Amino acid sequence: KKTSPAQTEFYQAVEEILESLAPLLEKNPKYRQHSIIERLLEPERQIMFRVPWVDDDGKIQVNKGYRIEFNSALGPYKGGLRFHPSVNASIVKFLGFEQIFKNALTGLPIGGGKGGANFDPKGKSDAEIMRFCQSFMTELHRHIGPNTDVPAGDIGVGTREIGYLFGQYKRLVNRFDGVLTGKSTLWGGSALRKEATGFGCVYFAQNMLEDEDSGLENKRCLVSGSGNVAIYTMEKLYELGAKPVACSDSNGTIYHEQGIDLDLVKEIKEVRHARLSEYCDTHEDAEFTAREDYPEDGEQIWRYKADVAFPCATQNELNEHDAQCLLENGVKAVVEGANMPCTQKAIDLFVEQRTLFGPGKAANAGGVATSQLEMAQNASMTRWTQDEVDEQLQCIMRRIYNDAKQTAEEFDQPNSLVLGANIAGFRRVADAMIEQGVV
Ligand code: NDP
Repeated sequence: KKTSPAQTEFYQAVEEILESLAPLLEKNPKYRQHSIIERLLEPERQIMFRVPWVDDDGKIQVNKGYRIEFNSALGPYKGGLRFHPSVNASIVKFLGFEQIFKNALTGLPIGGGKGGANFDPKGKSDAEIMRFCQSFMTELHRHIGPNTDVPAGDIGVGTREIGYLFGQYKRLVNRFDGVLTGKSTLWGGSALRKEATGFGCVYFAQNMLEDEDSGLENKRCLVSGSGNVAIYTMEKLYELGAKPVACSDSNGTIYHEQGIDLDLVKEIKEVRHARLSEYCDTHEDAEFTAREDYPEDGEQIWRYKADVAFPCATQNELNEHDAQCLLENGVKAVVEGANMPCTQKAIDLFVEQRTLFGPGKAANAGGVATSQLEMAQNASMTRWTQDEVDEQLQCIMRRIYNDAKQTAEEFDQPNSLVLGANIAGFRRVADAMIEQGVV
């Protein structure tokens, strides 16, 4: 029953999960007896708050802030903060809901949460970003804590924003504790946290392809976005001998046959916080397609020929027309770096055509898993080397892949990692909820 029909993204995420869970619920009546679905769909707590701040012209601006504490059966709420003008109750709720199962899949002790604000960081000065973050944390700090709720970054929230948020938290509570992850490695951040989602996503793809007697070497790849996840997906692809030939931002797509110049993308996006269109100032042989010139029925990036596609930008960025083009061009695997980037119709097409499909919940879980490793390091006041974290990350991604694959086989759908990941994550959360009683 849709009690908040305007929450379309939330219902989209719920429908995908419920469809996968049908065979499990049939086999195991205990989940119905304990009303697990009804309880899971209702967040434990939702917080909405005003975020007033003063811009560089001295004008007062007001944004809406959110934190959704969805489920704590397995551990403290854990999930990122997103700053983007499109953020609303539905987006935060869909992200929080997905996070429950993703976190469960990692096998680590973390519950599910998510948050953010409808604030647009684009074009804002550093000082404006800082004042916004300080105002946001002035309310948020009442609700979070290292054993309660531990936010991290997401779209629009990177190391700079986590720094400003942490500074304000520390001033308010007078404690230096591991309340946020994705911190700078100078003061409590874990090695490899910044890279972890992208690296993890490529490790996941490698596991999928190796299972089919192939690997990533010499594969042509499309990687949408040019933010945190996209950049480190491309970095690991290069390390493993693959070639990313296209990436994008919200204004357009770059196609570069000789391979994307990653140092330049980092300089444009991480250092200058500028637009990807500037890439062609350095590389005249690259092609830039502005969003206005995209095909009417989808996104430009999925129209290029490639072996593997990594949607790493945002939700619903790859629809059934895009999927059709990828398939006609012979794509072998699609691996979701972003949360819910493929529409249900696109996923159905990949599954029908037996294309390998890695769902975001499993494939992009390397970020949150490494956040949990950051919490563990903070709690024990230690610091692990890059190699130690990388080894754990690879191990976690392999375990997630095997878990999803074996669960899919258990339910006689060996090709559906969507079903496998959803059931494997759900089972852990649901069993913990049953053991903890009706709360
Ligand atoms: P960033 O803000 O670092 O980057 C987002 C990128 O996507 C930017 O390049 C942005 O362009 C681009 N983008 C946004 N909308 C579109 C669009 N419609 N078309 C093309 N490009 C677009 O965010 P992240 O990389 O952190 O997050 C990306 C995705 O990965 C999100 O779905 C997030 O939830 C998910 N994710 C992130 C994790 C993390 O650890 N960061 C962990 C797990 C999942 P522009 O620069 O123009 O805004």
